[in-house]
Amino acid sequence: MPTRIMTAAQAPVRQSSVRAHNLALVLQTAANSADRPSRAAIAAATGLTRATVSALVDDLIAGGLLTEHDPAPRTGAGRPAAGLALNADGPAGLGLEINVDYLAACVMDLTGAVRHRIVSHGDQRPVSPAAALAALDTLADQARAAAAAEGLTLAGAALAVPGLVAAGGLVRVAPNLGWQDVDVPALLPGLAGLPLIVDNEANLAALGELRAGDEQTFLYVSGEIGIGAGIVLDGELYRGGRGWSGEIGHVTVHPDGRPCRCGANGCLEQYAGQEAVAADADLAASALGIALAAVVNLLDIGVIVLGGAYAPELPRLRDGIEAELGRRVLTAGLAPVTLRAAALGADAAMRGAADAVIRSVRDDPAAWLSR
Ligand SMILES: [Zn+2]
Repeated sequence: MPTRIMTAAQAPVRQSSVRAHNLALVLQTAANSADRPSRAAIAAATGLTRATVSALVDDLIAGGLLTEHDPAPRTGAGRPAAGLALNADGPAGLGLEINVDYLAACVMDLTGAVRHRIVSHGDQRPVSPAAALAALDTLADQARAAAAAEGLTLAGAALAVPGLVAAGGLVRVAPNLGWQDVDVPALLPGLAGLPLIVDNEANLAALGELRAGDEQTFLYVSGEIGIGAGIVLDGELYRGGRGWSGEIGHVTVHPDGRPCRCGANGCLEQYAGQEAVAADADLAASALGIALAAVVNLLDIGVIVLGGAYAPELPRLRDGIEAELGRRVLTAGLAPVTLRAAALGADAAMRGAADAVIRSVRDDPAAWLSR
């Protein structure tokens, strides 16, 4: 075997990447424990030495990511458990959402708790992109002030949009907003200095659901004025060959049907968008069932999660959707398809956005510590 010679320049890189890996390992172990683990318990769970764990834990505490609760004196029932836990007052994520009929912002702490939430209802269709994003910028400012008042430090922001997003946060097209080639980061000056992720709302919501639940393969469907989907296969979001997967709203359910904003006819969105659900829930459920059956037949996805405006409507839609799935899914008799409301409810996209930020801190604490 050839001898590998490590140069002086390579050695520190390697050491720092081991430290980064171990910091993430310790933080994840503390985060995923059912009860607050001690330093010794983390050493046992990770195979790291106690001295190494202690040094890493000290760094994570100093960086505001972990807190250590001392054993309280025995003064009766209800004393808090001793050990290490994620710091609820450490870095937080700012989740933002722009949709056709509302703007929203929330602040989520490192434990996943929503500490602040603002929703501003109003039709965004007649509003220019610059004006809509200026209004969102104001909501973001309020959320930042609320986070600061609680002593939270924002680690970044993520914005969910109902459209196709290219690299750099450029929204190529958001048909229901009437947007084309909108440079979102440039129109959110209030967020300057904060790392910003811009992504499709159904993708962010699907990622939020992936982290909140146990399922590794599912279809997340977001019903608003438009309809989007996030496809999660084996624990990974499937973005498609060009990053534009999930446009279930433009799957044809009636070839000669109603004209759609996209230029085609009979798209799902025309029969099962939020306005269509309000007008005729049975028609919406049937159209949704037809489109979902096609997805299940093609991808063998056994769990469908309904979010956005669909989450609270599921009791009215369930029978109609299940009837179509039962009729059209080839394997319906072999294994049922599970239909459930989003665990994160109607806020799934905004919460998924905030979750994307805190998850980036939890996955790479070394980056946060060296900021
Ligand atoms: Zn269409």
